[in-house]
Amino acid sequence: MSSSQLKSQIAKFAKIPPTGISLKEMCEIGSIPSQESLYKSNKFIVNELPIRLAHRIEELDTLPNGLNKMSSIEKVKNWYTKSFEELIEINSLSTSNSSNSSSINHHIKFNRLVTDTLKTIKKRHDPTVATVAQGVLEWKNSTNQNLVNYSIQSFLDRFYMSRIGIRMLIGQNIAINEEPSRDNYVGVICKRTNLKEVAIDAIDNSRFICEEYYGIFESPEIELICPNIKGEETEKDLTFMYVPGHLMHMLFEILKNSLRATVETTIKSNPGIDLDQLKFKPIKLIIIKGLEDITIKISDEGGGIPRSEIPLVWTYLYTTIKEIPDLDPSYNKTDFRAPMAGFGYGLALSRLYARYFGGDLKLMSMEGYGTDVYLHLNRVSTTEALQ
Ligand code: ADP
Ligand code: MG
Repeated sequence: MSSSQLKSQIAKFAKIPPTGISLKEMCEIGSIPSQESLYKSNKFIVNELPIRLAHRIEELDTLPNGLNKMSSIEKVKNWYTKSFEELIEINSLSTSNSSNSSSINHHIKFNRLVTDTLKTIKKRHDPTVATVAQGVLEWKNSTNQNLVNYSIQSFLDRFYMSRIGIRMLIGQNIAINEEPSRDNYVGVICKRTNLKEVAIDAIDNSRFICEEYYGIFESPEIELICPNIKGEETEKDLTFMYVPGHLMHMLFEILKNSLRATVETTIKSNPGIDLDQLKFKPIKLIIIKGLEDITIKISDEGGGIPRSEIPLVWTYLYTTIKEIPDLDPSYNKTDFRAPMAGFGYGLALSRLYARYFGGDLKLMSMEGYGTDVYLHLNRVSTTEALQ
């Protein structure tokens, strides 16, 4: 396709509003994975994804104050454009081939082609968060921009939120095509996500990263408390429909922050004491299942945050860490999993993940004492259409 054809296709698709599908619909499509239902789902995705990608391409193209000209932003735009092109080629193929489009062989071939293409696309876009972060950083350094630039903030919120939706669709489609019948799972959605299990994993991973980062033998304890309404411990029943990967991401980010605050305030208030002799205040992770929401509260005694800085913690690139870790965009992780802190993305992205399924993330702090983070999760089987 010539570049002018491509441009006009992008402009055309960018005019179509995206279509949301609810979690319930995703589950329904995925739970009857015949070649025919997969075909329907794949046809939907090769129509829907180009629309969503086109919206983002246009937005990247028109970012204000020269942000659109940053090389990392252009790189991301090229990935979006390439993926757009690959998808509309399949799209036109599927419509031009309509004579035998009802045959089972055609369905199988089409499903394979879409799944392979989606896998390539997913991989191509893995470093998007890091690369956009890099672009914003370059721009910030080159123009001396104010960190709390609201148009950039709302662009990034929209951009990353849309990315969560796109990756959800792609991940879901690859999963239902490749592993149709995993216990309790429909694609990447787990109908019985076990909160306690995910919390234990997040605790282990974040403590491990903390120990590595500070070179300490044992990081602060994280107490997992799951009382039921009567105040007794509940072992069972803490399951609900969710995407375990999203839950893991949020808990991991929040816990790393609490661990860092706890370790650093303890070091500060005990100058000269050997790190391994330090006694840390434990962090509490409390999970309550209410009727409407599941709420997870993470409380630390890590010294809190000054009230004037609270709005900043939700901005991208706000971090109190001195040395920003290497933002190498070729970095091969799906998200910022590995570093202890330093991109300033932890809270902002986690709040997007929470909101994506109708939940929210709030933070309350007592300066001089500690911080409480509330993660509200809507019991999503009722959630409306998502984009
Ligand atoms: P990062 O951890 O990469 O700096 P985050 O978005 O996770 O980015 O956090 C932003 C900033 O908010 C942190 O640098 C820190 O200053 C502050 N912060 C977050 N959580 C806590 C906490 N529990 N206690 C104290 N400060 C916190
Ligand atoms: Mg963090």
